[in-house]
Amino acid sequence: MLIDSHCHLNFPEFTPDLEAVLARAQENGIGMMLTVNTKLAQAKDLQAMADRYPQIFCSVGVHPHDATSYVHGYEGDTLLNQIKALAQHPKVVGIGETGLDYYYNNSPREDQISAFSEQISAFSEHIQASIDLDLPLIIHTREADEDTITCLVDIGQGKAKGVFHCFSGSADLAQKALNLGFYISFSGILTFQKADQLRQIAQDVPLNRILVETDAPFLAPVPHRGKRNEPAFTRCTAEFLATLKGLSYSAVETETTNNFFALFSKARPLP
Ligand SMILES: [Zn+2]
Ligand SMILES: [Zn+2]
Repeated sequence: MLIDSHCHLNFPEFTPDLEAVLARAQENGIGMMLTVNTKLAQAKDLQAMADRYPQIFCSVGVHPHDATSYVHGYEGDTLLNQIKALAQHPKVVGIGETGLDYYYNNSPREDQISAFSEQISAFSEHIQASIDLDLPLIIHTREADEDTITCLVDIGQGKAKGVFHCFSGSADLAQKALNLGFYISFSGILTFQKADQLRQIAQDVPLNRILVETDAPFLAPVPHRGKRNEPAFTRCTAEFLATLKGLSYSAVETETTNNFFALFSKARPLP
């Protein structure tokens, strides 16, 4: 089986037909999926979904786009304490998605600096939670390579582990992530026509450090590009990766699944 290591099954795009989406995942050999939290207020909905479906795991965390609304605490407690409390649920296997995203920002420069520093404090609390709980980080980073690595080194103190999800950064960032012991997850972007640089990076990253994901409902891989993405399409990215690296599909399937369980060690294979 293959695992979709990052999707958002609670997003409204899946409300009308989640059962059919899960059935198509099963038909395509996607045996498990990790549905990733972006707003703390939705963490319990994800946990309810994971309780209902044995093949679904979930995470706890605040997306950098939402960091400003949570950085001063949530429901009367600090972000750190809230994450730690919500992560006690048995199917929460990771912390995130968290990180830094300096790409979408139309605010004036001074507001921008304060928004960035709020992202950094939210990211720092996630890193601390991840270390305290021994659960891996699910990192989202865009146009913020240097600050992301600095936070992981300074706050992580060599103890932080996790995955750079939906990787679309530079070869230098990939190397730094690998040096820190992190995994790299490739999404449908790998199949996009203009992604030559990313394909080169995927060729160089060793298979024992790779995960695959959809980031559904976004970023559907070729040949579904432009449509709603869904976990079944993880297969397209994995097939593409196998061809790119000159490997069999089953090698990619086996190794990325082993990698998933090695990193997300609170997740157990289905009996
Ligand atoms: Zn993301
Ligand atoms: Zn995501």
